[in-house]
Amino acid sequence: MTMPHSVRNNFDHDVVVVGGGPAGSTAATLLAQHGHRVLLLERDKHPRFHIGESMLPFSESVVRRLGVDWSLNNQFKSGAVFIDESTGRRMYFPLSIYRKTYQLERGPFDQLLFQNAAQHGAQTHEEEKVVEVSCREDGVEIATDKSHYRCRYLVDASGRSALMGRKHQAISRIENLGKFAVYSHFDQIRPSAEADELFESGCIYVPVVDIGWIWIIPLSGRRLSVGLVVQKERPKDCDLEALLRRYLEGSPLLKGLLEGAQQYAPVRVEADFSYSNQQRHGLRYACCGDAAGFLDPVFSSGVFLAFTSAERIADRIHQALAEGREADPRLHAEDDADYLLGFDTMRRFVERFYQSDMVHNLFFEADQHPQLKDEIARLLSGDLWTGNNALQNNLLASHRAVG
Ligand SMILES: Cc1cc2nc3c(=O)[nH]c(=O)nc-3n(C[C@H](O)[C@H](O)[C@H](O)COP(=O)(O)OP(=O)(O)OC[C@H]3O[C@@H](n4cnc5c(N)ncnc54)[C@H](O)[C@@H]3O)c2cc1C
Repeated sequence: MTMPHSVRNNFDHDVVVVGGGPAGSTAATLLAQHGHRVLLLERDKHPRFHIGESMLPFSESVVRRLGVDWSLNNQFKSGAVFIDESTGRRMYFPLSIYRKTYQLERGPFDQLLFQNAAQHGAQTHEEEKVVEVSCREDGVEIATDKSHYRCRYLVDASGRSALMGRKHQAISRIENLGKFAVYSHFDQIRPSAEADELFESGCIYVPVVDIGWIWIIPLSGRRLSVGLVVQKERPKDCDLEALLRRYLEGSPLLKGLLEGAQQYAPVRVEADFSYSNQQRHGLRYACCGDAAGFLDPVFSSGVFLAFTSAERIADRIHQALAEGREADPRLHAEDDADYLLGFDTMRRFVERFYQSDMVHNLFFEADQHPQLKDEIARLLSGDLWTGNNALQNNLLASHRAVG
């Protein structure tokens, strides 16, 4: 690095990263690998529960750079299967062809990523919540519930808390996608042809139902994560546990899989779905992961976007810190266009998913059209930036045509 020591010493840290989820731990690790003084602040204590267990193969290159082994104790994921139980139709999209990916429990995985950041030289604090930040020409001031820090750059990886987005009132809701999810976890899944095939392939199963869709994610140790995503506002007076139960029992597939199984986790609910942050970067700060935007999880894109956005931001900050250009408010403009290409592709893809004719015409007919099937599989793998995907072009163009 070329920055003189006198400049570095005016600050406690070069970069403070808010949030120790996948985005924050990725940014912290890569910046520490580049030799910067990084502080990573997490308000909770790892391992903490987090939903979001199905990964995408195009995260592999970032995971490799981090130097973690994500295959350890995790279920291999070969693909995704979309299911229409009313007609019995199923469509399998192979995903882990050239790159491998996994279904994993986020508590231990996020802890591994967080500890890995420390091993690469980042200073890490748990149970420390950032309460206020001020990004100015001459540096960033950060107040937590325990201390104060001064640094050259801030990375907001605070997840759906979206620290900077909410501070700037820049969170813009994306309507018409899933509104909330209700889910639980089961173990002791009994042997059966269906269950054995599920654990062998490690596929995520996505039965499409009248009010949304269900995820069935096989986890190591013959456990299942099962959730219902509903495309309606969360009813104030409805028992969501009963709603989940109704859909689990109404599905012959799930009824079979869960027969004799034990529910080992509480029923949980997540709302606050699908938004974009309109001010993802600015003077001495950048947002990554869910702090930049969040999409209905039907295509399991969340952690993948967290990894790739954090990587992009970390590499740019490294370059700027080395050259003393970090106060340029347009620092991330070019990278942000790349991020948006990926985010918008996924957003338009999810929007199409909720137009039910698309699911039936596109997904369930895909076997008739090998090229289309390949294009869908590439999007479902996270192959968003290599170009040459007619479906991706079509999704983005039809959006532009509508305005
Ligand atoms: C129902 C549902 C299902 C999902 N399924 C999938 C899936 O199958 N696959 C997938 O890839 N994604 C899925 N996701 C999305 C996925 O969970 C997120 O995209 C992913 O966790 C984003 O990572 P992140 O690091 O940006 O945020 P997070 O993982 O949320 O990490 C943010 C961290 O910041 C901390 N934090 C927040 N505010 C502060 C503060 N002020 N100070 C200090 N720390 C703070 C939080 O405690 C948290 O640990 C799903 C999401 C939902 C809601």
